[in-house]
Amino acid sequence: MIRSNHPDVIHPYLKDASNLSGGYAQEVVFPEDEDDVAQVLEEACRTKTPVTVAGNGTGLVGSRIPFGGIVLSTEKLGGLKHIHQAAEEPGYAVTGPAVTLRALQEAVSAKGLLYPPDPTEQNAFLGASVATNASGARTFKYGATRKWVRRLKVVLATGDMLELRRGECLADKEGRLFLKGFRNTIALKLPQYRIPEGKHSAGYYSAPDMSALDLFIGSEGTLGVITAVELVLIPKPQELFSGIVFFGKEENAWQFAHQAREASLKNRASCAKDQIDASALEYFDSHSIEILRSAYSQIPQRAQAAIFFEQEIQPESGKKLAEQWFLLCRSHQALFDQSWFSQSPKEHTEFRVFRHAIPALVNKILRQHNQQKIGTDFTVPGEHLFDLLELYRQSLRDSGLRYCIFGHIGDNHLHVNLLPQNDLEADWGWQIYRKIALQIIQWGGTISAEHGVGKIKREYLLDMFGPSGLREMAAIKKELDPCLILGRGTIIPEEYLLD
Ligand SMILES: Cc1cc2nc3c(=O)[nH]c(=O)nc-3n(C[C@H](O)[C@H](O)[C@H](O)COP(=O)(O)OP(=O)(O)OC[C@H]3O[C@@H](n4cnc5c(N)ncnc54)[C@H](O)[C@@H]3O)c2cc1C
Repeated sequence: MIRSNHPDVIHPYLKDASNLSGGYAQEVVFPEDEDDVAQVLEEACRTKTPVTVAGNGTGLVGSRIPFGGIVLSTEKLGGLKHIHQAAEEPGYAVTGPAVTLRALQEAVSAKGLLYPPDPTEQNAFLGASVATNASGARTFKYGATRKWVRRLKVVLATGDMLELRRGECLADKEGRLFLKGFRNTIALKLPQYRIPEGKHSAGYYSAPDMSALDLFIGSEGTLGVITAVELVLIPKPQELFSGIVFFGKEENAWQFAHQAREASLKNRASCAKDQIDASALEYFDSHSIEILRSAYSQIPQRAQAAIFFEQEIQPESGKKLAEQWFLLCRSHQALFDQSWFSQSPKEHTEFRVFRHAIPALVNKILRQHNQQKIGTDFTVPGEHLFDLLELYRQSLRDSGLRYCIFGHIGDNHLHVNLLPQNDLEADWGWQIYRKIALQIIQWGGTISAEHGVGKIKREYLLDMFGPSGLREMAAIKKELDPCLILGRGTIIPEEYLLD
């Protein structure tokens, strides 16, 4: 196992995509299998040395940035091992943590299969996307990462190991879990707080009858190191129909998305064939359109908003379905003749690239000003979608800050990206962020739908679950990581661990 304390080796592990600064570490270790991981953790436990687990560094909340101790890089822990494909049963993949989502998707696609979660950042490692319960555009139809994980291997901070399968090791009626490690059995009391419906990646998961593996999904490297994952796969859709529909007014795009969402949910529930059933519904506001114009001069002049939609189709039903989407466009005053509809898989891929371009362009602007991104990751229950859009508009329009709003409108999950140009603006941005977060919590939403809490969103987790929720999380952490070495500073503030 390689270990290095050379500053040049350590340096890349002191950052992620959050721009959080100030990280430092004494060493980086590169375990090559789970025995190496156990050895590193046992030693760290003995010496009370903090350990920060690192994936591929695309996280947006600073959770992989160390503030002392050692970094445990997962990159030599192995990638994809096996893809199982058989007629009449779901496919599955067995993999180590270090396969990128892009490589995983390409490998399963070559076998005619699909791993449905679709996070925008394809360079993320699978292990980390389990650790953050990542989701993406297709979550509207297929749910988040959690739904597709059916087995995990985890090395605990003590060096003990767990092998957990969905449907096994369930929480009992009192909300207790008994985890059988290779060495010890650990009893845990699950938190009593209510997890919001829909997308959610903020703090430890808790639900009646839940499988033990769900506790580790979304735990952001604070409860154990994920060393193996088994994923459920589905047959790859035969064809896709997609479009980027432009609108002259943002409100028309909101209504279009709402109608498309309602129709999709209804048709999906009734298994209606050849009807609107989007797998992705993504929004771009006027500010996002302005930013995108720097890379796409062909965006219509009058466009003030856009929706990207995608639907899986059977080749024979393509024409009929396209007509339904066109009808929906026309009934919401879309700039129909200037909108883009895919005629080929190549065009479909180009539309996805267009969707994925916006966060990358935002990050480029932030780098120019050397500022940290202020990005919301809130969702609200469906009945508050329009309230949410109005709240964003009212809070931001007169703020004097540069911003844009884009993302997963089908899941009531829009990313507001504030682009401060200096520290003063950044302070102001965080004040606005907090005000919005408090309202989201009142509406029963979540402060993090997919990025996690990390080191930069802990105070909002406290707003959401209160001190009692934090204490319940801390109690779990102390049972699984009695030396308190893993992911220090992530999710749970220190004061809850040290009392
Ligand atoms: C442009 C852009 C777009 C993005 N779009 C999306 C999106 O659509 N959806 C989404 O969900 N996220 C998105 N993200 C965020 C990011 O890609 C995800 O959070 C991703 O899961 C992080 O993966 P990573 O390999 O980079 O992990 P890192 O950033 O290195 O680590 C993330 C967390 O996972 C933990 N971790 C890593 N590996 C393990 C392991 N094996 N065991 C235990 N813990 C581990 C780390 O300790 C850390 O807490 C985006 C980021 C960028 C920059």
